[in-house]
Amino acid sequence: LTEVLEHEQDLPSETPDGHVMPLMVNTGLAIDMTVSLKKRISGVGLYRTEVPFMIAERFPGEQEQARLYRDQLETFSPLPVVMRTLDIGGDKDLPYFPIEEANPFLGWRGIRVTLDHPEVLMVQLRAMLRASCGLGNLQVLLPMVTNVDEVDDALKLLDRAIRELGEEGVTAQRPLIGVMLEVPATLYQLDALSERADFFSVGSNDLTQYLLAVDRNNPRVAGLYDACHPAVLSAMSRLAEESGRLKKPISVCGELAGDPAGALLLMGMGFDALSMNAPSLPRVRAAIRRVSLNAAQALVQETLTLNTPGAVRSHLFSRLSEWQ
Ligand code: PEP
Ligand code: MG
Repeated sequence: LTEVLEHEQDLPSETPDGHVMPLMVNTGLAIDMTVSLKKRISGVGLYRTEVPFMIAERFPGEQEQARLYRDQLETFSPLPVVMRTLDIGGDKDLPYFPIEEANPFLGWRGIRVTLDHPEVLMVQLRAMLRASCGLGNLQVLLPMVTNVDEVDDALKLLDRAIRELGEEGVTAQRPLIGVMLEVPATLYQLDALSERADFFSVGSNDLTQYLLAVDRNNPRVAGLYDACHPAVLSAMSRLAEESGRLKKPISVCGELAGDPAGALLLMGMGFDALSMNAPSLPRVRAAIRRVSLNAAQALVQETLTLNTPGAVRSHLFSRLSEWQ
């Protein structure tokens, strides 16, 4: 099977009935970038900018960040690179910026931190814009959005960054802006969010954690953490449907997208792209190349009638074994 998979890697991620499912990659370090990878993907669906921040000894400056970002943008150009603004807090701490809280996952995380420290976000946005000059493949993604005005505030800072750079003689193109759907509140604000954002990206890891009220890193409740919980799948399905109605591109960049069964479900639900860690690409591509869009849609319908994570898992397992 390994041999088959390796040979399949250069073939399109297309179902037997001709539906193309764009596959993207999640990155964080320079090591994640290779030329052979570039030929096999439709772009970077999630560049976690906090990763280089986590291995630094202090906040990287604008020039230093611009160099890192330029590397990503150039390596994958002309493919799009979705750069997420700093998503620290929760389980991701910077040694030089400790955040100590009783409930870190419900606390100061993602855009909450960077809007409270606009000087940090400004440096980052300026670095991204600078790095994208002449390339035009930058897209910016906002993590942990809960309220619509957080998007407004971030957009104001983006406009300010473009204006400032312009005054300094750097003409920066305005990137597409995406909102991460990972806090359950966003499920009920899609209309307002779609007026502000160009695309959506579902963070299924956090959406699962918050919908199920299960800390994604707590071993004691690890058995309860399951992206195949019927409530999570129903939420995901609704997100795909609503985004379709709003005509907003929507992708998934959480772990569910990198699981073959999960990827088939997401394809059947109507997601526009799936972004995953590079090692997950071969198995997901193989699954997509073996299952028609019709069959994936039927799988979604069957699955959405099931009431427990266990029933969902065993149904997916038996269908997938039939399709091997
Ligand atoms: C997610 O929450 O699904 C996600 C992709 O972001 P992270 O895992 O970095 O929180
Ligand atoms: Mg997340």
